[in-house]
Amino acid sequence: MKLLVTGGAGYVGSVCAAHLIEAGHEVVVLDDLSTGHRDAVPAGATFVEGELGAAAGEVLGAGGFEGVLHFAARSLVGESVQRPELYWDGNVVASFRLLEAVRAHGVPRLVFSSTAATYGEPEQVPIPETAPTRPTNPYGASKLAIDHMITSYATAHGLAATSLRYFNVAGAHVTGTERLGERHAVETHLIPLVLQVAAGTRESISIYGEDWPTPDGTCVRDYIHVDDLADAHLLALTHATGSRHDVYNLGSGHGFSVREVVEACRTVTGHPIPAVVAPRRAGDPAVLVASSELAAERLGWKPSRTELERIVSDAWEFARSR
Ligand code: UDP
Repeated sequence: MKLLVTGGAGYVGSVCAAHLIEAGHEVVVLDDLSTGHRDAVPAGATFVEGELGAAAGEVLGAGGFEGVLHFAARSLVGESVQRPELYWDGNVVASFRLLEAVRAHGVPRLVFSSTAATYGEPEQVPIPETAPTRPTNPYGASKLAIDHMITSYATAHGLAATSLRYFNVAGAHVTGTERLGERHAVETHLIPLVLQVAAGTRESISIYGEDWPTPDGTCVRDYIHVDDLADAHLLALTHATGSRHDVYNLGSGHGFSVREVVEACRTVTGHPIPAVVAPRRAGDPAVLVASSELAAERLGWKPSRTELERIVSDAWEFARSR
């Protein structure tokens, strides 16, 4: 298929683009490089540098596109609280422009990068797709607004749409020659921060609270390998049905605590990785674990890279290649 990948110079977008190319698809990447990197666009993709809202119409206007995978977004929770306007404009308004271009040019399929942040503080874990959606920050709210927009386009305009709600994406795409992973100018994610300590560019890792109601007192998250996520996107493309908007949670269904993550990083890197306990971070739920049973049942998706040490060692391999 000829596919548009928005945000294909970013972490998840570039890895998915690489998988799509490996599977024989023709990929056009649209990215404004505001947070992405030109050299992350996989070899074999056509690259268009441009801002999503402004450029989507022109790119899709070239014709022949059979699907859009939409990753381009702002994704910093803290920033979204401080500057919500960036999220309503960069995420919601830009996605609206993309959907209008999809409609205008009759593109039949859309896969959207949604998030566990649409659920907010969970009532039950593992979290199923039927859980209430009560995002606790503008980032999650903006993604949820886009989900609602997509539902209405599927119903009214026949779009075959899928939203994939990621839990904690981690690891890197490490093949013979290709190394694609997480490298944000402002890094807030646990595993890359811990690996910065192992690499000697950060002195210690702060553990945000050890008085949570969890087995070792630190927060528990569901870390999912970025290559497993990419597998789900390919399955979503082939399972999409016209006039339907399906929503799937993507996680491993297993939680690891912050301390377990730090320990896995020590094992993989051989570095002692000093850790200091810091106050809780505002807005962090104690436990977030996905129920991905629906994705298993309907898409036939099963994550295969679920061992924490495997996830960390791929992230470490990527970090060392930089
Ligand atoms: N965390 C931490 N220290 C850090 C960064 C994160 O203790 O320097 C914790 C954070 O409180 C959360 C978990 O690690 O419980 C994962 O955080 P991350 O920002 O990677 O992802 P989130 O779950 O917020 O999407």
